[in-house]
Amino acid sequence: MNSQLLDKIRIVLVNTTHPGNIGGAVRAMKNMGLSQLYLVSPLNFPADKAVWRSAGAADLLEKAIVVDTLDEALAGCGLVVGTSARDRRIPWPMLNPRECGERVVREAATHPVAIVFGREDRGLTNDELQKCTYHVHIPANPEYSSLNLAAAVQVLSYEVRMAFLTGSDLPLVQEWDQPPARAEDIEMYFQHLEQALVDIDFHNRDNPRQTMTRLRRLYGRIRLDEMELSILRGVLTGIQNVAHRLRVAKEGDKTD
Ligand code: SAH
Repeated sequence: MNSQLLDKIRIVLVNTTHPGNIGGAVRAMKNMGLSQLYLVSPLNFPADKAVWRSAGAADLLEKAIVVDTLDEALAGCGLVVGTSARDRRIPWPMLNPRECGERVVREAATHPVAIVFGREDRGLTNDELQKCTYHVHIPANPEYSSLNLAAAVQVLSYEVRMAFLTGSDLPLVQEWDQPPARAEDIEMYFQHLEQALVDIDFHNRDNPRQTMTRLRRLYGRIRLDEMELSILRGVLTGIQNVAHRLRVAKEGDKTD
């Protein structure tokens, strides 16, 4: 397999507190042949501590891309996997680390992919995890399941490396005629969907319950492609137009 494929794999660290962990993460990445680091609002970066801990991998720190939001870090990605040290209230499609490595390597052959890691003290928020198609959990000791951030990056990068070395013997991901929808288009779709559901009085932003979460999970299971997403956006616009016409007609009735 071509090693350029590994350059399509982003490691995204969200709101990292300790720069030493950023250094440890790039060392782990470089050992495994990964090079694309995205830092979402790190608390303290650049920092000498990150350079010390990175050992010979400071080149990855220099070209790390620092952004303000997770959405910016995910732009262009056709697959996003979120890591989680514990179970969340609403279950999500899960991969184990081995399956994660295989899927990430297979998909990186055609589009950028991201593996997202959370804060040292409280991991990823539910909103952040809901932007991910799959969650991956390292099956650690259930009584002590939270790994150090850089250690978690090491485990998942190692699985990516093993899948990469397995190369063409990897189980095939089904061929598709259209590219998968990109993370930023999916986000735009959900904003559009939420607005349309408000417009037809199905959804109330002040009392949202779990509606949007469940819809995100539903669409995530389908893995929308670019074409399907654009059809769905057209459908929403159609629904909004009808809702708007009905509203105008009703208001006209009232003033008659
Ligand atoms: N106390 C936090 C743990 C954060 S550990 C919590 O309960 O969520 C920091 C990060 O390391 C996590 O956000 C995740 O990205 C990664 N991590 C740690 N342990 C992990 C595990 N067992 N499986 C997957 N990721 C893990």
